[in-house]
Amino acid sequence: MIFNPQKYSIEDIPNHPFIDKNEILSILNRNENTSVSAVRDIISKSMCGHRLSMYDAAALIKSDSEECTDLILDSAKEIKRQIYGNRMVIFAPLYVGNSCINNCAYCGFRSSNTEIIRRTLTNDELSSEVGSLIEAGHKRLILVYGEHPKYDAEFIAESVRRVYGISHSQGDIRRVNINAAPFDTNSFRTIKSAGIGTYQIFQETYDPDSYRKYHLGGKKSDYNYRLTALNRAMEAGIDDVGIGALLGLYDWRFELLSMIRHANHLEACYNVGPHTVSFPRIKNASNVETRYDWGVGDKDFIRFIAILRLAIPYAGLILTAREPSELRDSILDYGITQIDGGTNLEIGGYSSERKSQQDLNREQFRLNDERPLKEVVKYLVKSGQVPSFCTACYRKGRTGEDFMKLSTTGEIKNYCAVNSLLTFAEYLEDFTDTGLYARGWDLINRERGNFVLEQRFRVILESGIDKIKKGERNICL
Ligand code: SAM
Ligand code: SF4
Repeated sequence: MIFNPQKYSIEDIPNHPFIDKNEILSILNRNENTSVSAVRDIISKSMCGHRLSMYDAAALIKSDSEECTDLILDSAKEIKRQIYGNRMVIFAPLYVGNSCINNCAYCGFRSSNTEIIRRTLTNDELSSEVGSLIEAGHKRLILVYGEHPKYDAEFIAESVRRVYGISHSQGDIRRVNINAAPFDTNSFRTIKSAGIGTYQIFQETYDPDSYRKYHLGGKKSDYNYRLTALNRAMEAGIDDVGIGALLGLYDWRFELLSMIRHANHLEACYNVGPHTVSFPRIKNASNVETRYDWGVGDKDFIRFIAILRLAIPYAGLILTAREPSELRDSILDYGITQIDGGTNLEIGGYSSERKSQQDLNREQFRLNDERPLKEVVKYLVKSGQVPSFCTACYRKGRTGEDFMKLSTTGEIKNYCAVNSLLTFAEYLEDFTDTGLYARGWDLINRERGNFVLEQRFRVILESGIDKIKKGERNICL
């Protein structure tokens, strides 16, 4: 993959804000109705391993004819196949606490929401939650926290350590990511020391004016402090970071170009782009009255995902259970590489009984895909995608620049192919009933036959599968 450095009016200096609204709008508004041939040229650039510029992405945004849309969607599918192959990484979010000092207008946890019941998991509750997730078959979690003085760096590090430390007869959690407030560099060092996987933080909207409108109080009202959070994380040694925008607060086209700008900034400063990109659409939340002028319809949402896939090919793209199951299933192909399964947003919800109305009041927003993990896995198998519980890159130290080298060249596909099959084989052996077991092994055997793998990868795959069948666990490449 070849990165084309570009000059922007704001230079890429670590810890300095890098979004210039006027510049982004001028790039966005330069073209009208991009021709089919121009779209083909941009796509072939992406297919040849070149990163797209913001100008290229803006041209794709301005090409919404059916023919151009089909070209963009087909090539997003192809790029995903080339870089990541046929696997879909699965994780679960785990909400640790919903106390919050901020007042984000769209969020059920906001400080002015008096309807919501505030709760922070005790150590025992955290262990029960993790136990239930392990029993469902999960291996990777993202811990989510409101922003509150009690959720300081020590608290977060301690909760991460506790999750790694839980031993259970049915397995373990092997990668803990976090989604939490921005910290200073020293606090990020404390969090890093607990061995987190990805640190994820969403800018929500990159438009400073809309940001001001929706973040009405608390520390989060500081746009620039949030924008530069990942610089401080990188400086603290957290080289695996996730960016995101909450779609609905401002024009999705602007957010898309801004995320490319954010990726460019991180690459320019640290040689490492975002490990993941998230793009939740705003959903109903407890006691939220705000109307959103910039809601994104399904057709634009799919184009957004596909253009992002072409523009930042190396990044993992995450689609969460905020979206309804039918829509999720139908758009995975266009570039999504990670999904959650069996999600429960209620604090303590994985290990407790059915939800009452009171319980629903603890959720941050409404969930639209409530399928248990097993159902999500069944769908993936039926559609020929390999469910992956892989945590190998993190455990083998392939993060930051090392990961970038593999993902920008597409070499990562070999690792993903082997590790997805090995972790899925474990899942089948440990968590499935006869029907899914047989269908899952059919898929593994088909994929084993189809992969063109170098001998060293082939040996690890075949011997790993034999070992898993004999009861060995935690084998990865
Ligand atoms: N307090 C941390 C923060 O604000 O960064 C943790 C984040 S929050 C628990 C995770 C993300 O959920 C937010 O960054 C936001 O993008 C998203 N979110 C909040 N309200 C939402 C809603 N109503 N619909 C969909 N996503 C929402
Ligand atoms: Fe608090 Fe985060 Fe919700 Fe804002 S988005 S109110 S900071 S939990």
